[in-house]
Amino acid sequence: MEGPPLAARIRAEVAGEVRELGALGLVTLQVGEDPASTIYLSRKHEAAQEAGIVSEDRKLPEDISEEELLELISALNAADAVDGILVQLPLPPQLDEARVIRAIDPLKDVDGLHPFNAGQLYLGRPTLVPATPLGIMALLADHRVPLEGAEAVVIGRSDIVGKPIAHLLLQSNATVTICHSRTDDLARHTLEADVLVVAVGSPEVVTPDMVKQGSAVVDVGINRTEGGIVGDVAPDAADVAAFITPVPGGVGPMTIAMLLRNTVKAARYRRGLLAFPRG
Ligand code: NDP
Repeated sequence: MEGPPLAARIRAEVAGEVRELGALGLVTLQVGEDPASTIYLSRKHEAAQEAGIVSEDRKLPEDISEEELLELISALNAADAVDGILVQLPLPPQLDEARVIRAIDPLKDVDGLHPFNAGQLYLGRPTLVPATPLGIMALLADHRVPLEGAEAVVIGRSDIVGKPIAHLLLQSNATVTICHSRTDDLARHTLEADVLVVAVGSPEVVTPDMVKQGSAVVDVGINRTEGGIVGDVAPDAADVAAFITPVPGGVGPMTIAMLLRNTVKAARYRRGLLAFPRG
């Protein structure tokens, strides 16, 4: 399941929607200079600008105070030209990540991490949902991977990937198991998985002997090794699975495409073209 062709289609759709909606604004906030975050952000901005979204990459000093950051978010919440706000995580230790995320207007929360949006997903009435899980669902749908009644196993329970993808799979009527670092006997679960989503951040967490014949495997991991970027799944798992996402070139490009789609959705909410369930 290659990401770039589908991501390109979605980005082209987004460009058309942006032309219809008029000027759209996306602002990202990066605190400090983590090199990996800088690369991810530059790709997001390149794609946003290509789709006609006015995007701004704000770099903030590593030692910014929480109050300063909250004030900036509050100004962006009020700015009419801004449809989407994304705070690149992780944040340095002086900043309370949960508090910072709560400060973002849920209507502009294009990363889908605000408790309001996370809660809507939990309730089965999704609003703005994190981009990576949306990208995974789009890839599975594009390849017509059956989800209804399927055994789906998610490894990882982060707020940005593991938990939201588990909820989206559940809403598609899969039977979902969530595994994590304390799971006893990972292979016992993964071998049952018709759909296996791996979001751990450690190479070869899943080896071919852990994969069910004919299954669909989604490798979210991005790990920098001496041999280059690898995922969480050993590449020869492709010999067992019917579908597998490569790393790089799988989920990564989908994440960017879905961030742009979320920006359009946020713009629609704010312009009253879509009803946002608040108040
Ligand atoms: P987190 O570190 O937040 O979460 C990792 C999860 O993996 C945790 O739930 C942890 O369990 C679990 N885990 C750790 N070790 C094991 C193990 N040995 N066996 C089973 N479970 C384990 O990471 P993220 O969810 O943010 O990201 C995961 C990976 O996906 C990273 O490589 C990240 O770079 C990549 N990523 C890629 C994106 C893309 O667009 N392609 C987007 C976002 C992330 P516990 O909760 O018990 O600690």
